[in-house]
Amino acid sequence: MTERRKVAVVTGGSSGIGAASVRRLAAEGYAVITGARRLERLRAVTEPVGAAAHVLDVTDPGSVAAFAAAVAERAPAGLALLVNNAGGALGLDPVEKTRDEQWEWMFQANVLGTLRMTRALLPALIASGDGHIVNIGSIAGFETYPGGAGYTAAKHALRALTRTLRLELLGHPVRVTDVAPGLVETEFSAVRFDGDQERAEKVYEGMTPLTADDVADCVAWAATRPSHVNIDELVVRPRDQATATMVHRQPAHRQPDDR
Ligand code: NAP
Repeated sequence: MTERRKVAVVTGGSSGIGAASVRRLAAEGYAVITGARRLERLRAVTEPVGAAAHVLDVTDPGSVAAFAAAVAERAPAGLALLVNNAGGALGLDPVEKTRDEQWEWMFQANVLGTLRMTRALLPALIASGDGHIVNIGSIAGFETYPGGAGYTAAKHALRALTRTLRLELLGHPVRVTDVAPGLVETEFSAVRFDGDQERAEKVYEGMTPLTADDVADCVAWAATRPSHVNIDELVVRPRDQATATMVHRQPAHRQPDDR
C-alpha cells in the first residue's frame, strides 16, 4: 500500500520513550513504522494507533536489512523521520567489575545499532526531499558518573556520530537532532539492573522524573519545526536533577549516592 502521509520510523517502540514517540508521532499525523525485538509488546503499542510493527534487532545486520526492506516497501516516496531510540544500559559496576558482554551490548545497541539503522535508511531520508534523524542520546553523552563507564562511553560516541552526521549531511535535505534526556521513568533501570524491580524503583524514589511522554514531546517538537530549522541538541532533565549525580529527593528518600 502506498503511503500518502509522511512516514516516520521509530526504533525500540515496544516500551518507554520509543512507545511514547510512536503514539505521539501517530497523533501528529505521521504513518509510523516501528521495530523492536519483542513483537507482542510492539503490537500492543502500534495496534491502537494504526502504526506498523516489524521485528528488529539493531545489533543484528541481517535484521536491520530486513527491516529496511520492509520500510522501503511501505514508503516508496521516502522517509521523513528516523528516531534512533533503541538502546539502554546494562549494569552500574565500576570498570574493574564489569563484564565484557555488558560493554559489548551497550556499544552494539546504542552506537553500532544507530549507525547501521542510519546507513540503511539514509537513502530513503534523502529521497523524501525533507528527512530528519533524531537520535535519543542522554546526559550520559556529555557527563560521566561512577559505574557508568560503558554507558557514558557509548552515549558520548552516539553524540559524536550525531555531530559527524550533521557535517556529512550538510547540503542534503536531512536535519540531525540529538535529544538528550536525564532521568526518565521507563523500563530503562529494570533492564540496567537485570530485572531487579526494587533497585530500579529506587532510582526514581523521592523525586519527580521525566515521563516517556515528556521526551516524546521533545521529539515531536523538534520534528515539527519548519524544514529549514535544525534543532541540534535538546537537553531535557527533571527539575529535581541538576547533573547525573546531583538529584534532589524528599528527605525520607535521600540515598547514599546523592550529592
Ligand atoms: P526502555 O523502556 O527499556 O526501552 C528501550 C527500548 O529499546 C525497548 O523498546 C527495547 O525493545 C528497545 N531495544 C533494546 N535493544 C534493542 C535492540 N537490540 N534492537 C531493537 N530494539 C531494542 O528504556 P527507555 O528509557 O525508553 O530507553 C530508550 C532510549 O532512551 C535508550 O536509548 C536510552 O539509552 C535512552 N535514555 C533513557 C533515559 C532514561 O532515564 N530512561 C535517559 C536518557 C536516555 P525490545 O526489548 O523489545 O527489543
